[in-house]
Amino acid sequence: MENATQPGNGTLRQVDAVVIGAGFAGLYTLHCLRDRLGLTTQVYEAGSDVGGTWYWNRYPGARCDSESVFYMFSDHLSKDILQEWNWSERYAGQAEILRYLQFVADKMDLRRGIQFNTRVDSAMFDEAANRWLVTTNDGQTVSARYLITGVGCLSKPFTPEFKGMETFAGQSCHTAEWPDEGIDFTGKRVAVVGTGATAVQIVPEIAGEVEQLYVLQRTPSHDVPGRNHPLDDAYIAEIKGRYGEVWDHTRDSFGGFPFSPGEGSATDATPDQRAQIYNAAWQKGGLGGFAFGTFGDLMVNKEANDTIVDFICEKIHETVEDPEVAEALSPRYPFFTKRPPLEHGYYETFNQDNVTLVDVKTAPVKEITPTSIITENAEYEVDIIIFATGFDAMTGALFAMDIQGRDGIKLQQKWAEGPRTYLGLATEGFPNMFMVSGPQSPSVLTNMPVSIEQHVEWISQCIQAMDEKGVDCIEPLPAAEEQWLAHHAEVSDATLIPQTDSWWVGANVPGKKRLLYPYPGGLDNYRKVCDQVAENGYDGFAQTTHEVSAVS
Ligand code: NAP
Repeated sequence: MENATQPGNGTLRQVDAVVIGAGFAGLYTLHCLRDRLGLTTQVYEAGSDVGGTWYWNRYPGARCDSESVFYMFSDHLSKDILQEWNWSERYAGQAEILRYLQFVADKMDLRRGIQFNTRVDSAMFDEAANRWLVTTNDGQTVSARYLITGVGCLSKPFTPEFKGMETFAGQSCHTAEWPDEGIDFTGKRVAVVGTGATAVQIVPEIAGEVEQLYVLQRTPSHDVPGRNHPLDDAYIAEIKGRYGEVWDHTRDSFGGFPFSPGEGSATDATPDQRAQIYNAAWQKGGLGGFAFGTFGDLMVNKEANDTIVDFICEKIHETVEDPEVAEALSPRYPFFTKRPPLEHGYYETFNQDNVTLVDVKTAPVKEITPTSIITENAEYEVDIIIFATGFDAMTGALFAMDIQGRDGIKLQQKWAEGPRTYLGLATEGFPNMFMVSGPQSPSVLTNMPVSIEQHVEWISQCIQAMDEKGVDCIEPLPAAEEQWLAHHAEVSDATLIPQTDSWWVGANVPGKKRLLYPYPGGLDNYRKVCDQVAENGYDGFAQTTHEVSAVS
């Protein structure tokens, strides 16, 4: 392995690997490559600290939808950290998760491998040298053998273009670009645009502060109660006592959660049995248990899925006092075809006098003026507009960089008709480049840290294997990529997900290719495929060794 040399004397700095991003993915990749394999590894991070998603998303109410005790690095990173860290709530808030990642970075001595406040502008594959030339926004270029993206699936904010929005004289911001100084909502008239997982968190959080809150809804979501609560010492001790078994179960599960999957068809149960099963999961709270722990066919059988939709809509009508508002909030399309948010008092908020649900499906936003939002049938005077309008997911952050592979082909060009990957890990024409949680991998359909660990471990074992074999260039074979695409399409079409417009299928961003971006076949099945590929000597990858010209 080369040693890194510092820039300044005209020599191009050489490292073994460049990693982009210092969230869960970047931190674990740095540890695996630098501390386990001994590779010189440089991480670049646009933020001023570690955290990724949890660094950027600081809006009030930001909280994880996975239970905190399972939303962390496993015993594969460090058994000591598992024992030392104590979560305070069932679902940790943003600040606590950020503190956890800072704690991990400090304990594992990761900060010295990260250059903060630095964005990667471009990454060009230099075929003659068989290396990546990575240029950052501070004008530096570094040469790396491997390029690993850990840029997050939801890190490129998406704000729709509304006529006149630039004229708005009040304060406005996207939830993922929250100002450091915060926003004072006291006595303000506020509009929240969107009703996805982010809006569902922010709305109840600020409803008590504002004078008037308008929630602009285009599509209602299927919100499942979180039933958050403080964690007591006995529970923490009990989990810590069986973490080994918990992680084994988690790694071998469909969604990256240590829950037993639901069995049987919802249509075979009697209405009473169904009500009992759904109610038990609803009372317990939590997305995984409700979506995957009730019946086995909700994601693939429309008739079965209708039963859970009816149940959710009934619950909304029980909670929201005004029947018209309750019906407007009722999502009468298949459950889990858009990401269902976890809610903490969202529906109750609509019983407050100062909260108004605005239907922008039937009467879309026409214009934003300096003082108001005008829809097709009304004008709403506001002081603050919060855009909880989501992200250009999975490909947005990759395309934001100028990544050019063999023959100067840009990633956007190669993926013009949608992502083309092998296992969601790599793409042909971009040698020695690996993506953590890339498109066509399980990623956002699973508990992210568990999927991230699987990816990072597979990538670092692959790199180790290539070094042992003396291979200096690895990239997918076109046929293997084609096969993965066909498999991905087949598994996607077997689910109900493609039937609904959502960011999962890219429908939220105008002009984005409509297809399912994550892999819906389950983390357990996916892991087996990846393991098999590795066991077969990295089947489906071209592996070559070059005589490379010296780099000046
Ligand atoms: P999102 O789910 O994409 O929701 C965006 C919202 O904005 C939708 O309600 C969308 O309506 C609306 N919208 C977009 N363009 C609009 C327009 N022109 N007019 C009116 N409404 C418009 O984004 P998000 O809520 O930020 O969540 C994204 C993902 O981040 C989640 O699905 C989840 O995976 C993750 N997340 C996780 C957590 C957590 O774990 N705690 C919290 C927040 C977010 P349509 O539905 O009609 O498009």
